[in-house]
Amino acid sequence: MPEFVPASRVTRINTSPSVAAAARVRELKAEGWRILDLTVGEPDFDTPQHIKDAAVAAIGRGETKYTSVTGTPELQQAILQTLERKTGQQYTPGEITIGGGGKQVIFTAFMATLDAGDEVVIPAPYWVSYPDMVLANEGTPVIVPCSEDTGFKLTPEVLAAALTDRTKWVILNTPSNPTGAVYSRSELAGLAAVLKEHPAVHVLTDEIYDEIHFGAEPITSLVAVAPELKDRVLVTNGVSKAYAMTGWRLGYAGGPAPLVAAINKLQSQMSSCPSSVSQAAAAAALTGDQSFVRESVAVYRERRDAAVAGLNAIEGLKCATPEGAFYAYVNCGGVIGKTTPDGKLIANDEDFTLYLLDAASVAVIQGSAYGVGPYFRISYATGLPVIEESIAAIEKAVLALS
Ligand code: PMP
Repeated sequence: MPEFVPASRVTRINTSPSVAAAARVRELKAEGWRILDLTVGEPDFDTPQHIKDAAVAAIGRGETKYTSVTGTPELQQAILQTLERKTGQQYTPGEITIGGGGKQVIFTAFMATLDAGDEVVIPAPYWVSYPDMVLANEGTPVIVPCSEDTGFKLTPEVLAAALTDRTKWVILNTPSNPTGAVYSRSELAGLAAVLKEHPAVHVLTDEIYDEIHFGAEPITSLVAVAPELKDRVLVTNGVSKAYAMTGWRLGYAGGPAPLVAAINKLQSQMSSCPSSVSQAAAAAALTGDQSFVRESVAVYRERRDAAVAGLNAIEGLKCATPEGAFYAYVNCGGVIGKTTPDGKLIANDEDFTLYLLDAASVAVIQGSAYGVGPYFRISYATGLPVIEESIAAIEKAVLALS
C-alpha cells in the first residue's frame, strides 16, 4: 500500500498542546495514577437545566433537521440581541455567522480571508490555536511578545511596530487565555487610535470569556469603544465557557457583511450548519435566566483568590491576579536553573511542568506553548480542594529543588 502523505497544511501545524496535555492526563489516570489536573480548559460545572430542557424540547418538536447556514430564527435573534448588549451596536442578520464552536468560527474566518503571505498579528501569550489556525490557512503568524510589565497586553506602540502592508488581521483576546488579562476601555481606545491609521487591517476580537470577569464593570468590546471600526472587526464568541456548554459546540460572530458572507459561503460547503439541537440550547442560554453566570463567576473568584495567594506564597513562583477567564499565568523564573532531587536540571518551563507531573502529580501547561516563558498556566475550572491540594504539592516539590 502506498504510504499516506498528509497535505502540507497538516504537517505545518501542531496538535493543540492543551488537547495533548489533556490526553496525557487521561493516559496517566488510566494507568492508575491520581493526577491533580490543572490543565482543563472548560468549566467543571454542568450545563444549566433550563438549557438542557430547551434542547430536549427542540428534539420533541422535531427540530432535528438542517437549519439555514446562519441558524434558526430564534438563535439569530438571540445572537443579534447579545451582540448589541455586548457592543452597544446593532448588527443585522447578514452580519452574523455561527459555527461548531468559537474555534470553528475563527478557523473559517481565516480560511475566508488569508492568502499566502498575509500576516496575522498575534500578541503573546496567545491561545495556542491562533498560530496554527493561521498556518493551516496559508497565513503568516506574526508573534508579538507582550511582557508581564504591560499586564501581558498589547500596547499602541508595540501594535504600531508590528503592522506592515501585509497585515490582514490583528487578534485581541479579552479576557485572555492563558493570562486572564482584560483590556480596559482606555487601553482599547489607545489600540483603536493606531488601527484607525491602518484602514486595511481587520481585527478579530475573541471575547469567548467575556462573561467570566471579576471587575465591577462588564468586559468592554473594541467595537463599543470604537464603533467607527465596526466594519472591520469580527467579534467572536460562543456559549462554551459562560454557560458550561463546551460539548454542545456552538460559537458565533458578528462582523461586516462581506466578510460574514465569505465565511458563510465556506460554512455552507463545510458543515451546512451546527447541530439544530445545540442551536436551540444556545438560544435558551443567551436569552434565558443568567443567574448561572453570576453564580459560577462567584465560585471562580473564590478559587482564583485561593490559587493566586497560594502560588505567590511559594518562593520562586510569582503570579499576577487575573481579571477574567479561569486561568492564571504563573512566572516560574525563580526555579529555572535549579536541580531536582534526582539530579535533573530545570532549564526551562517545560522541564518544570514535567517535574511537577512527576514529583507532585500536578498537571499544568508550560508557558512556552503560549509563546512566552518561563511561565506555566493553571486552570482553576476545578474544585477548591483540588486547587488547595495542588498548591501544597507544588510547594513541596519546589522546596525539594536545590
Ligand atoms: N478562544 C479561546 C481563547 C479559547 O480558550 C477557546 C476554548 N479553549 C475558544 C476560543 C473556543 O471555544 P469553543 O470552540 O468551545 O467555542
